[in-house]
Amino acid sequence: MSGIYIHVPFCTTKCNYCNFFSVTSLSRKASFIDALEAEIRMNNGFFNQSNGSARVDTIYLGGGTPSLLSPEDLNRIFDSLAANFSWNSDAEITIEANPDDVTPALLNSWRLLGVNRLSIGIQSFRDETLRYLSRRHSAGKSLTVVQMALDSGFSNLSGDLIYGVPGLQDEAWIEDVERLAGSGVSHISAYALTVEPRTALEFQIRKGRTGAPDEEAAFRQYYLLREKLISSGFDHYEISNFALSGCESRHNKAYWNGEPYLGLGPSAHSYNGTMRRWNSSLLQGWTDHSLSGIPAYTEESITPEKRYNEMVLTHLRTSRGLNLREVEKSLGIHWRQYLEKMCHVSVKQGDVVVEGETVYIPPRKLFISDSIISDLMYVD
Ligand code: SF4
Repeated sequence: MSGIYIHVPFCTTKCNYCNFFSVTSLSRKASFIDALEAEIRMNNGFFNQSNGSARVDTIYLGGGTPSLLSPEDLNRIFDSLAANFSWNSDAEITIEANPDDVTPALLNSWRLLGVNRLSIGIQSFRDETLRYLSRRHSAGKSLTVVQMALDSGFSNLSGDLIYGVPGLQDEAWIEDVERLAGSGVSHISAYALTVEPRTALEFQIRKGRTGAPDEEAAFRQYYLLREKLISSGFDHYEISNFALSGCESRHNKAYWNGEPYLGLGPSAHSYNGTMRRWNSSLLQGWTDHSLSGIPAYTEESITPEKRYNEMVLTHLRTSRGLNLREVEKSLGIHWRQYLEKMCHVSVKQGDVVVEGETVYIPPRKLFISDSIISDLMYVD
């Protein structure tokens, strides 16, 4: 498995809670496409160098807001990808979409390009919550966008929701979850609202202009979400992700399984099993470097310590857990024994279960998985 991620760094407005890299002016869109074409060309040997294959299994356009790109922009990107990589007709090709941008004409243009999966940033079916999050779409658009995509022939749809938003009552949250689960999507990602440093939300809360997320409500809403989606036939396959059978995100699963991926665009990360690199998050700097043929990234090699931490971090997020034999095969007996030793206290506390060769976090502890995972990691 190998995948390509393209970071599209444009948004019409900046949502108050968001710390992803994006700019709100489209004035540099043309030079971004030129630079992206150059970066694609520069990396056509990426998978061969990593003993992977130039044939990719997944392509993911995320951001930012990829749905702000015109069909002509996307044509150029896909032509460039096709000239430098190949993929089979069953490759998973995803585009993230803001509900406000989605029209039947745009959906049709995406289908013609071969896009076969949409990830729609619904977040809520309530205007009050959408206003709190300073999202630009309305509840009305949230309600119609999935049907519009289904009518256009998309069958592999994912919707995002956010919980723990101040003022969001549990009953309203359950309604949102049930509405999305019954809308025709086959995949749901749900995230607790978190206050990231240097965001407008952090500033507003610090100045007392708005309420802070309620941890207890987030905890309750996480387990309500899990209960409702499991009873609707969704599998809880990763901390924040649920899918109907066979509809897990292949692209994200490849990240969690440590498969190689090439990240293109400002702030995108790449990984090939032995090294990780991350592109400059300065749009102008990344553009200038790509156009002059000198890539702008920072690179680090993956030491056994880093690989161990990555395995713990990614695998324990999934319901499959982490296989001790896999740790031993990939890193040696020393790291298997290290993990077994680190698990000792967590098992006693009920934070982790070791069953045969598998280590996993039991469902009732998933909400605090970040701290459980950090307890198992290697610290120098
Ligand atoms: S649309 Fe998405 S990427 Fe853009 S600011 Fe909002 S949350 Fe961030």
